[in-house]
Parts: sequence; C-alpha cells; structure tokens
Amino acid sequence: MNVQTTPAARTLPDAQTVTSVHHWSDTLFSFRVTRPRSLRFRSGEFVMIGLLKDDGKPLLRAYSIASPSWDDELEFYSIKVPEGPLTSRLQRIAPGDEVMLRPKPVGTLVHDALLPGRRLWLVCTGTGVAPFASLLRDPETWERYDEVILAHTCRSNAELAYGAAIVAALPEDPLIGEMVSGKLHYYPTTTREPSQYEGRISDHIRSGQVFRSLGLPEWTPEDDRVMVCGNLALNKDIMQLCETAGLQEGANSAPAQFVVEKAFLD
Ligand SMILES: Cc1cc2nc3c(=O)[nH]c(=O)nc-3n(C[C@H](O)[C@H](O)[C@H](O)COP(=O)(O)OP(=O)(O)OC[C@H]3O[C@@H](n4cnc5c(N)ncnc54)[C@H](O)[C@@H]3O)c2cc1C
Repeated sequence: MNVQTTPAARTLPDAQTVTSVHHWSDTLFSFRVTRPRSLRFRSGEFVMIGLLKDDGKPLLRAYSIASPSWDDELEFYSIKVPEGPLTSRLQRIAPGDEVMLRPKPVGTLVHDALLPGRRLWLVCTGTGVAPFASLLRDPETWERYDEVILAHTCRSNAELAYGAAIVAALPEDPLIGEMVSGKLHYYPTTTREPSQYEGRISDHIRSGQVFRSLGLPEWTPEDDRVMVCGNLALNKDIMQLCETAGLQEGANSAPAQFVVEKAFLD
C-alpha cells in the first residue's frame, strides 16, 4: 500500500507529511510529521490521525501527541496491532508519505486540569507514555514542579525503550536540560521479563516500594499531583490508590489532584 501517493490523499486538507519513522520493536514505532501552522495544542493532548481506506473514506484513531507544544513538528508513538484496521497499515509509513490529522486537540492530561503541587507523578503502561513524552519535554512542567516522576510499566524491556530514550535525552535538551537537573525520577517496571523493578506499578505504589526506592514520601493531597494513562485495569487501580490517598479527580473545568486518560479503548 502506498499511502501518500494516491491522488485522493494529496487533496486532503488535513494531510501531513511524514518526516521520520523509528521502529522500537516488532510491536512499537514512533514517527514525526509536519505540523499544520494553525495547530495549537497543550502538551498532553490527543488528536485524531489516520489514513484513507481503499474506499476513499478516512480511517481515524485517537493518538496522543508525543512532542511538546513548542515543537515545529508533531511526534506520535504507536502500537502495531497485527490485524488492527489502522496500525496494520500505519506501521508501513515512510518519510514522504502522508497521514491525515484532524487538528482538534483535546484531553485531560494537561497542566490546566491540576492544581499547583510540588511533585508530578506520570503513571502509564505501554503507549500510554506518549502524552508524557510531550509533557516531559515542555518547560512548563519543570517550572511548575519541584520533582517529576515517570513510572512506566510494560511487559518487556524492549517495550520500555521509547520512554527510556526520552528520559535519557532530557538532561542534554538545550531548552530544558538545566531545569531537569536533580528533579527527574524514572521508575520503569516490567511484568513479563526480569528487570530492576518487576511487576505492575500499581502494586509498587500499593506496597510503598516505589516511594522507598526513589526516596520520596507517599502521596498527599497537598504535595502530589498524578496523571494516569494506561489500560483500563491500570487506570482503575491508580484512581483507587489516588482516592485512598485523599486525592480528587480533576478536569479542565475543575482542576484538582489527579487526572486519567485511556491509552486505548479496550
Ligand atoms: C485518548 C486515546 C489516545 C490514544 N493514543 C494512542 C497513542 O498515542 N498511541 C497508540 O498507539 N494508540 C493510541 N490510542 C489507541 C488508538 O486510537 C488505536 O486504537 C490504535 O492505533 C490501534 O488502531 P487499530 O485501528 O490498528 O486497531 P483498533 O481496532 O483500534 O484496536 C484493536 C485492538 O488493539 C488494542 N489496542 C489498541 N491500541 C492499543 C495500544 N495503544 N496499546 C495496546 N493495545 C491497543 C485494542 O484494545 C483492540 O483490542 C489512543 C486511544 C485513545 C482512546
């Protein structure tokens, strides 16, 4: 399939050009596209992107923008679902191809939905790290918080690679490198392979292991803010843990202490 060269794709007002593609594993890849000049978004939001089906109709799915709001391009981090209507095709894109992008960003994983706090916890599974790749590269995140913790659970070490690369690059980032110094904590866990921290992040929070390992206090409504982006089970578990700690769910219209977004629809 050649996505970008069909005449129909070229005439789409929402088409953007792929500038680079990186395959992180058999099941995960990231790619960058040109950014529509008119597109304004808040780091952490998602848009609809996709391809044209053979019948000429658009096939769109929700995708978190993984690049920060100041970036000239847009980055996305994607699963490859073998029989997935979109990703079975999207995984074959190459630089120069075109993808569709509906420039209407929305989402709850934004600073506006949280009250000021001291520590920001970013808790995710799998591709749920994508909105946090955006927030971690945004200076506002480091201006707002004394400490930022990325807690990412995947099945394997290979699936952690994209998040690990984002974290590793932060201290060298010309824009925010100095702001990050001494403020960033990274807590990767694996559920199906040996690694430094094994098991689900929810279990590590419940047992207190994550706090002991990082030398941080347990969550309090005064100091801690939590953003959650994962599968349904993770979201439910972390919401419950937040509520047990006395944190309340926030929204754009009513900021509070934690916010949740689905990384995909089950
Ligand atoms: C708010 C929101 C933001 C999203 N952001 C991203 C993102 O940044 N990156 C991304 O890869 N996907 C993201 N998704 C999922 C995305 O919309 C699509 O579901 C995904 O691209 C697969 O599309 P598909 O047509 O190939 O298969 P679908 O028909 O959409 O899904 C097929 C199966 O794969 C599972 N699945 C879908 N997406 C994932 C995933 N990301 N991880 C694990 N299992 C999955 C589904 O549960 C389903 O059973 C997001 C979904 C929502 C609701």
